[in-house]
Amino acid sequence: MYLNVAEIESAISNLHAVYPGATEVLTPPHTTHEGRTARLLRIGSRSAHDVDGILILGGVHAREWVPPDALVSLGADLLEAHSLGTGLGYGSTSYTAAQVTHVIDGLALFLYPCVNPDGRAYSQTADAMWRKNRRPAPAGHGHGGPSCAGVDLNRNFAFLWDHTAKFAPDADVHTSDNPCDPQMYRGPSAASEPETRNIVWALDTHPCIRWLVDVHSAVPVILHNWGSDRNQTTSPSDNFRNPALDAVRGRKDDDIGEFIPYQDLNTAVELAGHMNDAVRGVRGVDYGVEAAYGLYPTSGTSDDYAYSRHFTTPTATKTLGYTIECGTSFQPPYREAEHIIREVSAALLALALNVH
Ligand SMILES: [Zn+2]
Repeated sequence: MYLNVAEIESAISNLHAVYPGATEVLTPPHTTHEGRTARLLRIGSRSAHDVDGILILGGVHAREWVPPDALVSLGADLLEAHSLGTGLGYGSTSYTAAQVTHVIDGLALFLYPCVNPDGRAYSQTADAMWRKNRRPAPAGHGHGGPSCAGVDLNRNFAFLWDHTAKFAPDADVHTSDNPCDPQMYRGPSAASEPETRNIVWALDTHPCIRWLVDVHSAVPVILHNWGSDRNQTTSPSDNFRNPALDAVRGRKDDDIGEFIPYQDLNTAVELAGHMNDAVRGVRGVDYGVEAAYGLYPTSGTSDDYAYSRHFTTPTATKTLGYTIECGTSFQPPYREAEHIIREVSAALLALALNVH
């Protein structure tokens, strides 16, 4: 059975109670529209000031039921293996006891399993295919139907958020300024949503975080920066801060792309490859790796926001962003979900063991 919101919170409390020396519970500052607080579990035996951090998100999209369970499961696996002094095996992908110790003693893993608790509760009790959060429908839209509630949190981040101003009119950017869009409403302003601001808070208050992984379903694929346009490594001035590109950004088949330094692109692809290898070892499924731009441009996503921060704020940490799209359906039977959970766990440990 999939965990509900209360069970995810008790799991976090229980893991901290059993493994107090290797965990810390973090309470984000902003309560949701329905008054909920979903917490983070930091795993690591050393102070987060002394080690590099990885922020791992689950449940951003309400109907994607597997990722929150995967994050809780990974935390439980890691902590148990560490306390018993054993390794971990996921199919043919395995990690030694020394590797488990390396993760716990050498990193800070910030597990944020249920970013959108209102949405998960609604998806699990009222409308299984609900994707957005539960922001009330704006005044004047009350008669537009139930889909006028909610914001797509993965279009709400302050990265090229205003797509009508920042992308070419003919760019096929997948977001919407219509509150009644049942899938991809970007929200009334950038970072308008408490759930979005909680992620910004996690990044702001933990400068150790050098990697962000937002776990979604279902394609499957492992995506790296950028999602706004095709990557290019040769023209630094062609970037998201350049207003001269606002009229042309996101177009397919033109010469303009989003700048990413060659070294960053190289690292992003290499780490994604390690994750994909680990996934494949579980039961042979090849997720594949691509830039988030893939087939169409996006705006306001968590992965690009995370990576954009050090360009806009010189004091900010450089944080590479990933989106793992796991599995092939949103709510598979739990027997299948358990396989996907192993794939996600294997991938996240591969990332943790290959960052440096
Ligand atoms: Zn999603």
